[in-house]
Amino acid sequence: MCGIVGYIGNKNACKILLEGLSRLEYRGYDSAGIALREKEKFNIIKAKGKLENLIKKIGNIDEIKSNCGIGHTRWATHGKPSENNAHPHNSQDGNIVVVHNGIIENYLEIKTNLIKKGYKFYSQTDTEVIAKLLDYYLKESNNDILEAINKFMLRVTGSYALAIMIKSRKSEIYVAKKDSPLIIGVNKDETFIASDVPAILKHTRNVYYLENNEMAKIIAGKVIFYNSYKTQIQKELCHISMSLSSAEKNGYEHFMLKEIHEQPLSVKSTINSYLKENKIQFACLNESKIKGYDNILILGCGSAYHVGVCLKYVFEKLCQIPVQVDYASEFRYRESILSKNTLVIVISQSGETADSLAGIKLAKLKNVDTLGIINVVGSSIAREVDYVLYTYAGPEISVATTKAYSAQLVLGYMLAIKFATVRKKINEEQYQTLIKQIKELPYQIEQILKDEKNIQHLSSQFINTKDIFLIGRNIDYAIVLEGSLKMKEVSYIHTEAYPAGELKHGTISLIEKDTLVIGSLTQENVIDKTFSNMLETKSRGAKLLAITSNEIDCNICDYTIKIPKTNDLFATSLAIIPLQIMSYYLSVLKGNDVDKPRNLAKSVTVE
Ligand code: GLU
Repeated sequence: MCGIVGYIGNKNACKILLEGLSRLEYRGYDSAGIALREKEKFNIIKAKGKLENLIKKIGNIDEIKSNCGIGHTRWATHGKPSENNAHPHNSQDGNIVVVHNGIIENYLEIKTNLIKKGYKFYSQTDTEVIAKLLDYYLKESNNDILEAINKFMLRVTGSYALAIMIKSRKSEIYVAKKDSPLIIGVNKDETFIASDVPAILKHTRNVYYLENNEMAKIIAGKVIFYNSYKTQIQKELCHISMSLSSAEKNGYEHFMLKEIHEQPLSVKSTINSYLKENKIQFACLNESKIKGYDNILILGCGSAYHVGVCLKYVFEKLCQIPVQVDYASEFRYRESILSKNTLVIVISQSGETADSLAGIKLAKLKNVDTLGIINVVGSSIAREVDYVLYTYAGPEISVATTKAYSAQLVLGYMLAIKFATVRKKINEEQYQTLIKQIKELPYQIEQILKDEKNIQHLSSQFINTKDIFLIGRNIDYAIVLEGSLKMKEVSYIHTEAYPAGELKHGTISLIEKDTLVIGSLTQENVIDKTFSNMLETKSRGAKLLAITSNEIDCNICDYTIKIPKTNDLFATSLAIIPLQIMSYYLSVLKGNDVDKPRNLAKSVTVE
């Protein structure tokens, strides 16, 4: 998920690796490490925290005589951030060292098998499994490295960009990739490996992009590529012309847009991490616990609270269990009544949100079970709760959340489906249908993203709008809550989200000629009702924009954005995408600092 670098050539590898890692710091990380080839041995140095800690540990860089090595900045997904869990990881005999970006989804099963074969593990990472599995296959295939990597690729599920060094192969590094980026740069007698262009831009602009299921043998100044059948292939050398700062954003103008586009992957990674053989599995939660709860309280702040509002509808419909949602900042100062069979779910991207942390501590004092939906492994809330389920959105840089929010939603749906099946509220057929619909979501999000240009064009018409009202009922209300917040955060336009039926109890007095009213119309049972409320505003001069997957009378609305159809319960995951894109373009058009909106902080660690 974070940064890989590699170097083989005639210069000081340590210097080049550290420089490369510093260029990847923007991706977020919690530990770093390098492995340098020094004559007959590998010199592995790792440190928790910032790169400076690693640099301090290394000491005098000029004294290190090595011109081949691999480096890594880790953003923990499996096992807390620590020196022990930092990469590179190695085989028992130290013959193989490996750095990895991504997630090995079936690592537990492989680890169990390897333990039975006598392998011992020193870390909690999924990556150590790679080093040990490669060792196993290397021995099985009489030291045929390509064969071992190939077997590994067939055996594992998940995502990986890998750089591998083997002791006996002195002037070689091996790489392989699936669903995590990896590029290889060449410059005369040197070859560079990186998960992203900025790491090597100083040295070369000539790069190869490794594709899924491809592997390569890297030697100084040369690369030999292979497909998944171990057949040598030719690849096109590309020239990078972009500037360093745009390279950091993968060519996108802002992190927010990049992260909007990363949503199919963050949703998919989160789904795949908990879906095993078409069954939802949460190792930390046993079935008797799930059966025992008689109500749920969801706590969150900002967008995480909006995830909670959506999940309230989803849990109540699927599991027929009462759900309350509260702002963590409110909950912590009220006299809440929690029965001993309450499950308190807290949702937080950073896992450091001060109010959510305080809320969960308070809940624990009341002796109820607590569960966290968290993006950052080992964060304060993750350590505080009884059960933690991680989202796999990867590090989020933009202050306004998009991909972490989407990952939280999908994990929440999966939790609700799990509750429904364990509590026998749905049968096997319904269970399988829901899972199928969940698995389609990443592709449906991709489909909406293809409509970006139209949504951008539409946004340009609202640039001078002073007020926007967003309305919806039930889950559509949860959708507009988040859409409204996104617009406020980055476009600084005054927006209000209202339950559609509430408008006439006061707020409708604010509707004037040309006020924009956005209606979310995804919930089959209340579409007509919300549509009528939209018409009430049109009669008072409003301009209407509908976001819908259903057939509505498009002639009545001034603008319509069509989104794909999913189960009504999962519509938030789709309807929010156009609203994120609109917010982004409104912000850009107004010349705002999209990634760092005024007055806001990414992780709110104060009350
Ligand atoms: N899943 C791996 C780990 O937790 C790699 C994370 C990353 O991409 O940085 O160690």
